[in-house]
Amino acid sequence: MRAARFTGIGTFMRLPNVADMTGVDAAFIGIPFDTAVSYRIGGRFGPAAIREASRLLRPYNVEQGIEIFEYVSAVDAGDLSVIPGNVQASYGVIEEGLTPILDAGVIPLALGGDHSITLGELRAVFRRHGPVGLIDFDSHTDTWDNYWGERYTHGTWCRRAIEEGLIDTARAVQLGIRGSLYGPEDRNGARALGIHLIPTEMLLERGVDAVLPEVVERAGKGPVFLSFDIDFVDPGFAPGTGTPEVGGPSSRDALRLVRGLRGLDLVGFDLVEVQPQYDHGEVTSLLAGTLLHEFLTLIALNRRG
Ligand code: MN
Ligand code: MN
Repeated sequence: MRAARFTGIGTFMRLPNVADMTGVDAAFIGIPFDTAVSYRIGGRFGPAAIREASRLLRPYNVEQGIEIFEYVSAVDAGDLSVIPGNVQASYGVIEEGLTPILDAGVIPLALGGDHSITLGELRAVFRRHGPVGLIDFDSHTDTWDNYWGERYTHGTWCRRAIEEGLIDTARAVQLGIRGSLYGPEDRNGARALGIHLIPTEMLLERGVDAVLPEVVERAGKGPVFLSFDIDFVDPGFAPGTGTPEVGGPSSRDALRLVRGLRGLDLVGFDLVEVQPQYDHGEVTSLLAGTLLHEFLTLIALNRRG
């Protein structure tokens, strides 16, 4: 409250930009890699746009009833120096960048970037925690084997992560799947890998309150990674993204689902696929920032116990 929220350098929530993880509990980190996409491009500008929109976010979460920073010391650790056009080298950068954060016992919250980055994050998380449960909000399963021969893309990261043993599929769930497909094998392929799917139709028909216990039970007791592809949300609420699918959940549905994930052992988060060029009035970036604010709140609630 010493200065208006629109002043100062635009870190996430105006948090201090700190690289030293001493005394830190949670670190926001930008991963502006976007050249493993199958359609539109532009997620490289996602972290900057989310940070700008996040200026408005305040430290008290009224729905969860918690003063976040009483329980969590959070920082903005800046961006990782990914290499545009080189997904393999960028995976090295991501793993190398997140490992010291995880080794310090800090929970990373990544700002993407396209969804391919999640594989690099999961490799780093695996080194610290072993195979993790996965809660993946997305209108796509991202379990394709390859695109035009390319095996490391935003549509294949989930299959690669399972093949590499990074995900405990018995504790993996994907919510929000919808949109036109190339064939029924698209969804069946994800199911064959062992992922529990809650498609958009089922989610909206049953409602948030009915679906939440199923998600929480599936994720179970062990460490869980939460990945949120912004195209989970209807493009009416989140137009700024690369492969939009209409007929999706609202931003309110998304916030209520995330708020319901209290008590899980969440060890890492990301928010991906924001493309500010296709956004209007900052709605997508503000939603992305607000979801990250809810992720941080979940960490604070866990620390409060
Ligand atoms: Mn995705
Ligand atoms: Mn998607």
